Amino acid sequence: MEGIKGKNVLVTGATSGIGQAIAARFAVEGANVAINYRNDPDKVKDTQELIEQMCSQVRGCGGKELPVEGDVSEEKDIIRMCEEVASKLGSLDILVNNAGIQMSAPSHELTAADFDKVINVNLRGAYLCAREAIKHFLKQGQGGIIINVSSVHEIIPRPTYVSYSISKGGMENMTKTLALEYAPQGIRVNAIAPGATATPINKWTEDRQKREEVESHIPMRRVGTSEEMAAATAFLASDEATYITGQTLFIDGGLTLYADFLEPWSAGE
Ligand code: NAD
Repeated sequence: MEGIKGKNVLVTGATSGIGQAIAARFAVEGANVAINYRNDPDKVKDTQELIEQMCSQVRGCGGKELPVEGDVSEEKDIIRMCEEVASKLGSLDILVNNAGIQMSAPSHELTAADFDKVINVNLRGAYLCAREAIKHFLKQGQGGIIINVSSVHEIIPRPTYVSYSISKGGMENMTKTLALEYAPQGIRVNAIAPGATATPINKWTEDRQKREEVESHIPMRRVGTSEEMAAATAFLASDEATYITGQTLFIDGGLTLYADFLEPWSAGE
């Protein structure tokens, strides 16, 4: 896709699932890729091996790679990461706010600490990353691009995942607010909203029976792939989307189309 080659992109939560596929897709499109990862003491060796693989893929595509360690729930980490990208790669041109977590509990039992954990990563973290990226965009004076990885739960309520639903609902408004505020400076802010996607966050995708049960509720009768999410992200970052801002692109096999209306119950038959 035109417009991505040579750009410097920071992908948060880039060592798993959708984030990993997005980083790989940007590499294929010729971008220089800053790969955000976290230091998990239990997985140091695995993480290092994976990062080395991802870096060599970026190099193999002709781009530069930059692993950047950091926790997006920590403001100081975010400031440092964005500085590092701008100074080591020369600029920060595209931010993909992908890092995300979810926690389940009946809403009347959810602790304040668990509520905060999810909001701090999914919403506050995404906002602070956007804030720092925008500072760099404005300083560089060439516009910039932010893509937020939201969810169908941006609009579909998700019982027992209230903090997750709130975080993605908030992300929709954040996408629109920042898009409006910075449109005159050539900064585009959009979101993708994946439906059910086969990644480590969804352990059930590895269980055939559970997967079939979920897929029976999806109009296209299958879960999505991380690569499909990455393709839409690349599109929104490319010159094919230069007049698109403040939008959420749903990539969900029809999940947000009121799937129950596939049956004729609404006509009273
Ligand atoms: P995943 O668990 O495979 O990946 C999540 C990534 O975020 C991991 O790399 C993890 O290390 C990183 N992360 C978590 N907390 C972090 C923190 N504090 N700082 C930095 N990185 C952190 O899950 P995924 O399915 O690839 O999810 C990626 C995004 O897609 C999330 O925002 C998620 O809400 C969204 N999403 C996923 C689905 C799905 O069905 N998989 C559906 C809709 C939206």
